[in-house]
Amino acid sequence: MATEKLIIIGTGAAGYTAAIYAARANLAPLLIDGLQPGGQLTTTTEVENFPGFPKGITGPELMELMRQQAEKFGTRFVADVVTGSDLSGPPFKLTLGNGDTLSADALIIATGATAKYLGLPSEQKLIGRGVSACATCDGAFYRNKPIAVAGGGDTAMEEAVYLTRFASKVTLIHRRDAFRASKIMADRVLQHPKIEVRWNTVIDEVLDVAKNDVTGLRLKDVKTGALSTLDVTGLFVAIGHQPNVEPFKGQLDLNPAGYILAQNTRTSRPGVFAAGDVQDPLYRQAITAAGSGCMAALEAQQYLAELGHGKA
Ligand code: NDP
Repeated sequence: MATEKLIIIGTGAAGYTAAIYAARANLAPLLIDGLQPGGQLTTTTEVENFPGFPKGITGPELMELMRQQAEKFGTRFVADVVTGSDLSGPPFKLTLGNGDTLSADALIIATGATAKYLGLPSEQKLIGRGVSACATCDGAFYRNKPIAVAGGGDTAMEEAVYLTRFASKVTLIHRRDAFRASKIMADRVLQHPKIEVRWNTVIDEVLDVAKNDVTGLRLKDVKTGALSTLDVTGLFVAIGHQPNVEPFKGQLDLNPAGYILAQNTRTSRPGVFAAGDVQDPLYRQAITAAGSGCMAALEAQQYLAELGHGKA
């Protein structure tokens, strides 16, 4: 098994951008697709905020273009997932889902984060059809429409306030009688004339009345068990994200929420870089992920040059 110069793990905006930069620098990167080639953007419809596309572009189309651009400069792809790693190198070793092992002198981890969903079958069916986990991505589709946000943390507060720019009304649904969010963020929600909070309430079912678009929610009061219906055209699930760090656990410094700690994409292990949502609990945008993918590729290039791979 020959040791690769650079392996990039993950094919979201961060992974593809890292690959474009690394391939153009003659590093012949190997890009491992992961579970969801194209990443989170493949679950959104129209992307209106990625610079360069004034008419908008669909998430899957944008990611396909990035893939083509990475391929054009010589990126090689592996259609598998990383299940384990040994980061004591270099070389760093990776185990794939099919049992193969790979090794590389530098790694860029761009495995992203997975939005947590409630797990209701009706919710899963309607993702991209009224159910979303990203207000910045999809909020503008709900101008003058009633919508709901689920969650009680800072993300839910931020999304609820942001969505008031578009929606006629935002109903915030929280399963307890107190927010987890910081006081300042919670106060913004509680004082907002367009936001109504439903405390002690969970979503029992997302309703589509056979239209295949969200038309409402069946809510359950957790204290009384009473069921009610709320008419909304959109549901934003904001109950947290899970950074995808499982194959590297115990080997890299993480923040308390489980995100990889990275300084200019450099992790706690020299030669291992992190880009995109796996190291970003705050911005989580395609364009910031792409930007950090570029940074990681430039950092990896520098690191490999110092290892003696020549000036790329
Ligand atoms: P959190 O884990 O902080 O909050 C998740 C919320 O979702 C909680 O209120 C939780 O309820 C609720 N929840 C979780 N699972 C379910 C479920 N199955 N059904 C119903 N409700 C559920 O995640 P966030 O994404 O809000 O925040 C993550 C981190 O990012 C935090 O540290 C936060 O402070 C930070 N952040 C900071 C921002 C800022 O400062 N501008 C903006 C956004 C995030 P319960 O409370 O009952 O557990």
